[in-house]
Amino acid sequence: MVLPVPTTMADNESPAVTNPYLWTPDTDFTALDELSEEEIEEQAELLREAVREHDRRYYNKDDPIIADRTYDKLFSRLQDIEETYGLEVQDSPTQRVGGEPVDEFETVEHVAPMLSIEQSGEETDVRGFNSRVSREVSQDPVEYVCEPKFDGISLALYYEDGVLDKAVTRGDGEEGDDVTQNAKTVQSIPLRLEGDVPEFLVVRGELFMPRDAFQAYNRTRIENDEDPFANPRNATAGTIRQQDPEIVADRPLDYYTFSVLESSSPWESRVEEHEAFREIGLPVSDLLEPATGIDEAIQYRDELLESRDDLNVEIDGTVIKVNGRAARETMGKTSNAPRWAFAYKFPPRSGETTLRGVGLQVGRTGRVTPVALLDPVDVGGVTVSRASLHNPEQIAEIGVDTGDKVRVERAGDVIPQVSEVTDAATDSHYTFPDTCPVCDSHIERDGPMARCTGGLTCPTQNRRSIEHYTSRKGLDIDGFGEKTVQQLLDDGLVTDIADLYELTVSDVQAMEGFGEQSGEKLVAALDATREPELDDFITALGIREVGPTVARSLAREFQTFNALRTASGSDLQSVTDIGPVTVDRILDFFDSSGNTDVLERLLTHVTPQEVEETGGTEFEDMTIVFTGSLPNFTRGDATELIEREGGRVTSSVSSATDILVVGENPGKRKRETAEENDVETRTGEAFEGVLNELA
Ligand SMILES: [Zn+2]
Repeated sequence: MVLPVPTTMADNESPAVTNPYLWTPDTDFTALDELSEEEIEEQAELLREAVREHDRRYYNKDDPIIADRTYDKLFSRLQDIEETYGLEVQDSPTQRVGGEPVDEFETVEHVAPMLSIEQSGEETDVRGFNSRVSREVSQDPVEYVCEPKFDGISLALYYEDGVLDKAVTRGDGEEGDDVTQNAKTVQSIPLRLEGDVPEFLVVRGELFMPRDAFQAYNRTRIENDEDPFANPRNATAGTIRQQDPEIVADRPLDYYTFSVLESSSPWESRVEEHEAFREIGLPVSDLLEPATGIDEAIQYRDELLESRDDLNVEIDGTVIKVNGRAARETMGKTSNAPRWAFAYKFPPRSGETTLRGVGLQVGRTGRVTPVALLDPVDVGGVTVSRASLHNPEQIAEIGVDTGDKVRVERAGDVIPQVSEVTDAATDSHYTFPDTCPVCDSHIERDGPMARCTGGLTCPTQNRRSIEHYTSRKGLDIDGFGEKTVQQLLDDGLVTDIADLYELTVSDVQAMEGFGEQSGEKLVAALDATREPELDDFITALGIREVGPTVARSLAREFQTFNALRTASGSDLQSVTDIGPVTVDRILDFFDSSGNTDVLERLLTHVTPQEVEETGGTEFEDMTIVFTGSLPNFTRGDATELIEREGGRVTSSVSSATDILVVGENPGKRKRETAEENDVETRTGEAFEGVLNELA
């Protein structure tokens, strides 16, 4: 597909138009060793420029011009060049992928205090604010500007000469945490501003998790047996304080800029500033509107309240600001808030009702989740009769019991939750049962959570484990879904995973909704999984803490299923990337007598493939980092050899690095970090000697 070049870009002869990686880029790159150093540097700069533009189009304008696959190729080429030649460019788009984990965040004093804002949900208070402003700036009607009050985390971005220097959380308003590495992974935060940018510019804005992303993210957490976040704000706060930027990069955060904290050349009004933000590439909300007089501002707030559920970001009110800078200076500030701004809050999305009972749900891994059964109540326009109570610890903490009046809150359109008791019927709180409501097995406490210890003898855990085994996360067997699994269990055709392989076409076609053809298909789909890849099989068993990545490590290490099954704790402990908790889970799984029976029968039908030994052990379990280029090997070929020999290549140096290979044109930072961490270094030449023997 050839995309038209927009005339606006062609007309103003922007240098971007001559960039070969912008429109229909050729991703058939020449090998690095066939290019001169100048050619490589030029290509890197063009790639940076193009990737920045593609990012902007994709994330800020929602108007991408190349396929995702093409983008990935451009990006990895740039990464390849930067890594090979040790080029570390502060504002390169590759800096977004997440740097080294930190032990603790540095505290930074803000350039100017990050103030809070006066707020109220009462119209009379808003009108009082207006009288004060009108009197002091001698304006009637006052020229305001209205914008949503986003419910996220306040974050200041420091730009020097247009380049992102640091990102700092609000903290106590005087000083906050330096979270620059994490903020860089947020795609909409520009690493470099465009056009006419003040020499020194510190902006303030809201970091948030868009609602749809939040819901998807919470679903994944629930599937992985993790506690979901209560609302997008908690999810954002929990994410930006992660010590590992790679985790932050995985989570969908976004940012809206809403004010200037400090600038070497400030704009004259909020409206002007908003337009300038947009022009220099800072992400802004489209919902900002000027208002002449307080009535228009109040009307804006009422309309915003109506549409709050349609927005993809949580908001909890409207901020009304005096537009002009001169008028703002006249108003000044109190010790902790500007006198020229006021937040007109929305009513909370909560309601009060009576708790009628507690239902218990059992998950695949035995987790027992309490659900509040409520007298139906309207919460922000939605009728709620069930709400989350999270876990036994939460129940004890809020002291809730049947018959109590409780507050129910709904945030980010997630599952509503019981947040507090407003009128207790008794002093007691609901006592969590000791036995599983489904199978009567003992319920044990696992941190704040409760868990049925029945394993596969618990019908619900058994059903969920069959669902998991057949699902896309497991062996991906066509034709299975929750409904089919339930039907097979109800009809007594299957009691566990092993029975699946004894199903016959006539069994299946006798089931409601199935015929000869669909019966044959289902049985054929099962037959196709009789010799699964070892790692897929391990994942499909649904051992707690063992997802696809851990399963791959286990498969590589033990090579056969039998070796894994009989592995000791210390054997398991020695596998890279596997922690003590996971080791315990694996041992528990294979120790459980209920599981052993099912596994024995399953293995009479299924033979997981053996993982073949593919190479030597020269670099067994070693982590190797390159800086600079090798004279006779491409980075890709060297990496392949190292991996074949059981090692791995990573892009940054830490105390976990075994060898830093210093080639031609090495980067400074990697060498310094290696020295600080006592990492062994080898020259490119010496290392090539080893590679030559292996090749
Ligand atoms: Zn149970």
